[in-house]
Amino acid sequence: MQMPHRFRRALLILCVMLAGASFVLVRELRRIPDGHLAVHFFDVGQGDSALLVSPSGKTVLIDGGPDLSALEALGRALPLSRRSIDLLILSHPDPDHFIAFPEVLRRFEVGALLLPAIQNDEEPYRALLAIARERGVALVKADPKRDIDLNDGVTLDILWPPDPVPSMEDNDASVIVRASYGTGSILFTGDLSVKGEETLLASGIDVSAQVLKIGHHGSRFSSSDSFLAAVHPRLAVISVGKDNHYGHPNPETLERLTKAGIPVRTTAEEGEIDLTF
Ligand SMILES: [Zn+2]
Repeated sequence: MQMPHRFRRALLILCVMLAGASFVLVRELRRIPDGHLAVHFFDVGQGDSALLVSPSGKTVLIDGGPDLSALEALGRALPLSRRSIDLLILSHPDPDHFIAFPEVLRRFEVGALLLPAIQNDEEPYRALLAIARERGVALVKADPKRDIDLNDGVTLDILWPPDPVPSMEDNDASVIVRASYGTGSILFTGDLSVKGEETLLASGIDVSAQVLKIGHHGSRFSSSDSFLAAVHPRLAVISVGKDNHYGHPNPETLERLTKAGIPVRTTAEEGEIDLTF
């Protein structure tokens, strides 16, 4: 028996609509908090941006990359209905770490913006602070004496910089934060250089972590042998752009990691890197 043409067309449209709806449903279900700590190292080219989603669905965005790609990545990582981010952390005011932040502040309800107490009068950074104030977002100074408890098993240990910030390069005053959940931990090191690593280690702070976000995109002036030994990670992640003109990650850094037996993953090679704890 032949189906009338009109009926066949309606059936086809219905099938397409059902397929579309189930695709969206599966996509949204995958984004519902599932009792794990998820970490998304966004592929933002030559810069840093990583999103933490805690077991109860709290969100922390560490750095905002050199352009708006972090904003697009947020759109993919969060449920469509999600219009809030609990905390933004800026490691330090270099433009490869915060360019998406103003737009994130405009488009999302942000709980607070955590910053190192670094003086920086350059226009993009001043504009960022102005937008945060305009949106009524609390500006919180990073303070190693005040760790952050997300109240669902995830703790953000602020390890660095001390307050007041010693006189050092901005990179070495990066906010160093370790996110811990159960036995899992990830250390975010901003653009800390070997000099900053030495000062941090000399202060006796425990920097050990399962996963290390390598400092300064794999520069050879970061990730010394002694720092790698102290962190003793099982995995290193490098947030870095493909064919960047800095030559990051530097072969010497990669060699130090190989020598220490630490496997390396880079956003340049893989795009976004997602880890679950
Ligand atoms: Zn950087």
